[in-house]
Amino acid sequence: MPECRFSLSAGKAKFGDLTCCICFEELRDEVMIRETPCQHIFHSECIMEWIKAKLPKPDCPYCREEFKSDSL
Ligand SMILES: [Zn+2]
Ligand SMILES: [Zn+2]
Repeated sequence: MPECRFSLSAGKAKFGDLTCCICFEELRDEVMIRETPCQHIFHSECIMEWIKAKLPKPDCPYCREEFKSDSL
């Protein structure tokens, strides 16, 4: 799962919901995020903690789709 720097303007166009649903904080411009294979975005730190806690079968905190290990 690639880490990237969040761009608020691009994010608004691509994703409707700009809240990290792990910590419930709004994603701010320039923070580090990761986009899941199901195309949901979270703070990079939040999703990594989530995945660690959920191993060996992590799923998306938003839509509950399971992450394949090759996409992590
Ligand atoms: Zn977060
Ligand atoms: Zn998802």
